[in-house]
Amino acid sequence: MLMSLKKLAAAVLAAAIAASGCASGNAPTVTSTEATAAQTTETEQTETTSGKYEKGENPVRTAEELAGKKVIALTFDDGPNTGVTNEVLDVIEEYGIKASFFVIGQNIDDESAKVMQRAHSLGCEIDSHSFTHSYMNEMSAEGITDEMERTAQLIYDNVGEYPKFFRPPYIAVNETMFDCIDLPFISGLGCNDWDDSVSIEKRVRFLTEKCPEDCIILLHDAKDNEKTAEAVRQAIPIMLENGFEFVTVSELFVAKGIVPTSDGIVYSYATETGWK
Ligand SMILES: [Zn+2]
Repeated sequence: MLMSLKKLAAAVLAAAIAASGCASGNAPTVTSTEATAAQTTETEQTETTSGKYEKGENPVRTAEELAGKKVIALTFDDGPNTGVTNEVLDVIEEYGIKASFFVIGQNIDDESAKVMQRAHSLGCEIDSHSFTHSYMNEMSAEGITDEMERTAQLIYDNVGEYPKFFRPPYIAVNETMFDCIDLPFISGLGCNDWDDSVSIEKRVRFLTEKCPEDCIILLHDAKDNEKTAEAVRQAIPIMLENGFEFVTVSELFVAKGIVPTSDGIVYSYATETGWK
């Protein structure tokens, strides 16, 4: 009796998903054969410029470990690539800090995947910034789900962990997106660093003077954005001197005791409302 009820529940859920055009999770459903294959590849070791790398889940520091720290989450959009992403990672590695990378699925190829693995091996979080970087608020439910699943699968295949957060391209959102995407939506505080006319000095001042404790900093490691890599190189030591503890987006929520929801909030801070 119990089994048949479970089967019925599963069937109802599957029908609901089919009807809405949304997947229940944005991690694609895998068959048991595929799951076994994934487990085998998880233990496979690869070489990154930071040494040996093994896929799997990165540890997330606990609230106790982060208690009393002046936490801030540094995040980067539009990678991965072999240029600017690596330059940013050089700084991250040098200072032993963590950041979160919201990657675009279609930017992941054999070479950039190694850079993504390097980020993950340094304790950074790999999150989703869609597959094609389109205005998803103009897409169908099926199109949105496809963007999320393809990116989630590529991230999983390369680092052994699914994305935990989503940054909407152009921070353009609508109800259909909230219905279809089961990851919390993340925005952040930025300085228009995608605009080449914003000088390195301005970017450094933004980082060292305008980013408060508890916030999510939104920068771009897009392939021509050398200015942000240089600004990060100059700003990180100053921010560390100012007492900041760099955490992943997951850790920021843990540190603040907030369980993020994927229901209608776009977070720039780890607070109940997503804002301060
Ligand atoms: Zn973007």
